[in-house]
Order: sequence, then structure tokens, then C-alpha cells
Amino acid sequence: SGKFFVGGNWKCNGTKDSIMKLVSDLNSAKLETDVDVVVAPPFVYLDKVKASLTDRIEVSAQNSWIGKGGAFTGEISVEQLKDIGCKWVILGHSERRHIIGEDDQFIGKKAAYALNEGLGVIACIGELLEEREAGKTFDVCFQQLKAFSDVVPSWENIVIAYEPVWAIGTGKVATPQQAQEVHVAVRDWLKKNVSEEVASKTRIIYGGSVNGSNCAELAKKEDIDGFLVGGASLKGPEFATIVNSVT
Ligand code: 13P
Repeated sequence: SGKFFVGGNWKCNGTKDSIMKLVSDLNSAKLETDVDVVVAPPFVYLDKVKASLTDRIEVSAQNSWIGKGGAFTGEISVEQLKDIGCKWVILGHSERRHIIGEDDQFIGKKAAYALNEGLGVIACIGELLEEREAGKTFDVCFQQLKAFSDVVPSWENIVIAYEPVWAIGTGKVATPQQAQEVHVAVRDWLKKNVSEEVASKTRIIYGGSVNGSNCAELAKKEDIDGFLVGGASLKGPEFATIVNSVT
């Protein structure tokens, strides 16, 4: 459902040199036309990447503040992101939930503010290994979804990223079946709790150890509408392979 969407989350990686090399590789990559492609560089490089990158690829922030800018040391406002032509922000990423300690309510505030200001939100959800093992995968995902759903003004500019925490940066990718199962459940949740239209239109992308070798099998699954890629997005040619896995 919807156009295939592939995001590259560069996280806290790179140097001026490595990032400009990546930008140049991306600029010369051959990318399928029917895919939305977005990369999320670290803040310090965001403006430079936006200015150097082909218009074919949009940029995303990895975080944004909950409201208007001002006396909030260390934060970046949605207005500043829009000022440099940034169209997206990743919110609710597991690293911010579990390492930085952001909770559903705080993430919800950020999402509502960003969407109200016209930024697209890549809304991340996903369970920890112990939650999966305890049979709580759906409960956890639904609770995180509800926290978004309770506050967002509309679903038009949201892409949901299902990223099981145990699959992130571990090389342990979810099987296509495991991912598909959760994506179907998420779509079903949207149908019951938001609307049939939102359920069918919202893109649900998968993240967690996606690479150039496993993307094709995952992309075949009906409810996998794209990917959010970490490590493999730091290599231009491999990221292009993932973009081009659209079926
Ligand atoms: P990896 O692809 O490195 O597992 O990271 C996934 C991720 O967290 C994308 O946001």
C-alpha cells in the first residue's frame, strides 16, 4: 500500500569526509523512480547534505524538539528543520526510547508538533527481545501506536517503521514471516482504531538488520512497504540495492 519508502538512518556515524563520499555515491546511484528515498544524517551535517544531495533524495532529521524553539539547550526545532529544507523527522526510535529514555508521551508531543508544522514523521515502534519472548509483541506495538494515534492531527504524513529492537544492529533480521505478521497486525489495528482508509494508505516499513542480501525476500511481503535501514545505509551502493528491491 502506498509508494515504497526507503529511509537511511545514519545515526551518530560519519565524518565530513565519509559523509561527503556517501552523498556523492548516492548522487550517482541509479534509483528506481517509484520509491520515496530519504536519508537522515546527524544534525551537524544535515544542512550540508541537503544542499549537496540530488533532489531525488529527501533528508530527515533524527529528532526534533516538542515545540517552538527558544531556551532549550541542545535541541533543534521543527522550524529550523523546515528552514533548511528538511521534510521528515524520525521519532520514537528504539535508541531514543531505550538508551535516552524517551517515553510515549514525550514522543507523542514531538510527533504532534512536527505534523502540525507540516513535517513528515517516521514513527518507530517495536518490541524488546524479552517482550517478544513473553508473547507481548503486539501489545507493545499497539501501545506505542496508540500513543501516536492519540495525539496526531492526521495520518497523511506518517510512515510507521516497525523495528523489533532485537533486530537492530544485531545482524539478526526478522524473517519475512515475522515482519509480515506484525505489519498485518499494525494495519489491522489502524483499521479498527483509526479508519479503513488510513489502514490501507499508511506505509508500514520494516527496520532491523536490513541489508543488500535480505531486502529482496522481505520486500516481497505484501504488507512490507519499504525499509528503515541503519548500518547498510552508510554504504551508497548497498543502500541503492535496498531502494531498488521494490517489487
Ligand atoms: P540496522 O539496520 O543497523 O539494524 O538499524 C536499523 C535501524 O535502527 C534503523 O532506524
